[in-house]
Amino acid sequence: MMQAVKSSRRLAALGLALVLAWVLLAQGGSWLAARHIRATIPQGENILRLAVSGLRGELARYERLPDLMSRAPVLSDALRPDASRVDIAAANLYLRHVTRMMGLSDAYIMTADGMTVAASNFDQDLSFIGQGFAYRPYFTQAMAGGQGRFFALGTTSGKRGYYFGAAVRDRGRILGVLALKVDVDAIEDSWRAAEYEMIVTDSEGIVFLASRRDWQFRSLGPLGTAARARIAATRRYHDEPLAMLPLERAGRVAGHQMLRLDSGHDRREFVSVSETMPEAGWRVQVLLDTAPARQQALQGTVAALLIVGAVLAGLMAWMQRRARLRERLSIQAEAQAQLEGRVDARTRELAQLNDRLTAEITERRATEDELRRTQRHLVQSAKLAALGQMSAALSHELNQPLGAVRNFAANAVTYLDRDRPDDTRANLARILSLTDRMTEIGRTLRNFARKPNAQLRQVDLHDVMHDAFEVIAWRIGNRAVTMSVDLGDAPLLVMAGPLRFQQVVVNLLSNALDALEGCDDPRIDITGHATADRVILTVSDNGPGVAEGLDDRVFDPFFSTKGVGSGLGLGLSISFNIIKDFGGELRLVQNGQGASFVIDLPRITSGKT
Ligand code: ADP
Repeated sequence: MMQAVKSSRRLAALGLALVLAWVLLAQGGSWLAARHIRATIPQGENILRLAVSGLRGELARYERLPDLMSRAPVLSDALRPDASRVDIAAANLYLRHVTRMMGLSDAYIMTADGMTVAASNFDQDLSFIGQGFAYRPYFTQAMAGGQGRFFALGTTSGKRGYYFGAAVRDRGRILGVLALKVDVDAIEDSWRAAEYEMIVTDSEGIVFLASRRDWQFRSLGPLGTAARARIAATRRYHDEPLAMLPLERAGRVAGHQMLRLDSGHDRREFVSVSETMPEAGWRVQVLLDTAPARQQALQGTVAALLIVGAVLAGLMAWMQRRARLRERLSIQAEAQAQLEGRVDARTRELAQLNDRLTAEITERRATEDELRRTQRHLVQSAKLAALGQMSAALSHELNQPLGAVRNFAANAVTYLDRDRPDDTRANLARILSLTDRMTEIGRTLRNFARKPNAQLRQVDLHDVMHDAFEVIAWRIGNRAVTMSVDLGDAPLLVMAGPLRFQQVVVNLLSNALDALEGCDDPRIDITGHATADRVILTVSDNGPGVAEGLDDRVFDPFFSTKGVGSGLGLGLSISFNIIKDFGGELRLVQNGQGASFVIDLPRITSGKT
């Protein structure tokens, strides 16, 4: 929308500028032309002055000649009615002599009735002699006693000339008239080839002298019948048709008439500078061609137009630049405002974020305090739990031999009742040995918490297995568990604490028995063998095995899958540590069918203590 308004406004401005330029061109052009034309006028006036003085000089040369000549007796003699041939011949010769001497065209004398009797051209074909010129004004004027002056086209010669007439007297009586004809062709010739046109018109407005030959005997204005009759009466222009010149009036410049020539192929414009010559009844006009002035004006106008155009173009470019600059500035301002807005928004966001962070920090600090408190509580609880678990573990470890003691004691009672003192003693001895072992267990458990410092000695796996079976036998006794033990015959010697080793084996067997609870065909395989430097004991069962992902955790203290009260989760972790104390390794091998626990110990060869 804005764009359309802008462009239409620009179009209007352009149109206005064009109209203005056109008006300037037209007005300025004509003003400039008039100025240049005016400037040519003084030159025209100079030419005119020269021409007029030339004409005057020409006429003045002959001014007094008719008077002087008319007094010559040779002329009056020839005009006398009784003049002889000799008189006439003398007059003829005189006239020819003066004509040649003075550069006249012709000289002749007429009788009172206008008949030519003697002439300078007496000996030529077109001689005036015998011709009557009584109708010519110079004749009538001279006959009236005045000075005859007349310009006309010679009726006989067909040549233009200025005629002077003077009366020829004899003792005061007018005998006739002397006429002198002056040729004007020479004057006219000096005007040719000039850059202006020159015309001389008579009182009727007929051009009789002209720089252009085709302008001769043409009228400047329309001729009325009266004027034509006057001209015919004096036969001034013989039988010339006296057509009008195709010159039209075209305004005035500085009081001078402008004329336009339109003769088909020739179109010109002039400014006329004129002066009248009252003594001859003439009007002399210099016609200055306006073409050079107009040319100059046109050049000036074009130059001005170019300058104006350049100025306008410069102005427009400047305006456009300013508009562009304004636009750029406004865009910059907008961008600045946008940026500031964004910065404000960002600052606000940052402030909000800061507030949030501060709040979060405060919250975190509170949480941390809470955590620390909770941690303190937890440590406390953990200590208590560990204590509880430790005591639970103790009782668990003691339960096994206690169970055996109870069994042996019950049997001992039975043997006593049946009066079998040997068996009773044997049982009591076993009970004693078991209580020793329980003491040992207590010590072992105490050692659990600290690095065991018990002495290791050479132990045979066969012995360990035998003792372990004694401890666990009561659990196997009435169960349909298939037990297979394959330790080979050769002793399998390792460095160990025999009681702790037995404890480990009891633990493994006890776990296997637990795992086989509810199994269809429960089975425990115990294998032992020696490699070059290791002794490997494997306890396998065909129970459910250890669940996927738990194989690492089973060795953790207090890890147990057995229900609360039955399992403490200490057996494997104690066993692991014991085997580690022996310099060996206890690991779980999942064989797809139940679990296999492998004890891997450095082998010692016999004789080593
Ligand atoms: P507890 O016997 O008191 O649970 P243990 O340390 O002896 O503690 O055993 C840890 C856990 O290892 C047991 O709860 C049981 O899930 C798993 N486990 C040990 N031996 C076997 C086995 N032979 N078969 C399957 N799981 C076993």
